[in-house]
Amino acid sequence: MPRYDFRCRACGSTFELSRPMAESGAPAPCPEGHEDTVRLLSTVAVTGGAAAPRPAGGGGCCGGGCCGG
Ligand SMILES: [Zn+2]
Repeated sequence: MPRYDFRCRACGSTFELSRPMAESGAPAPCPEGHEDTVRLLSTVAVTGGAAAPRPAGGGGCCGGGCCGG
């Protein structure tokens, strides 16, 4: 489960939450109970090792620029 960093705009503290990606945009009250928080764009810890380039899409074409022709 990915972890997200949040920052509270009420008290200025930062905190982490582990939550499903489906709930990544859900409100996250800070440990102090404030609800005025923003999600920080930080590195998301995802298990699986090093980041490997993945072909976008998934059609029959090769990744990146399409095959000529
Ligand atoms: Zn707070």
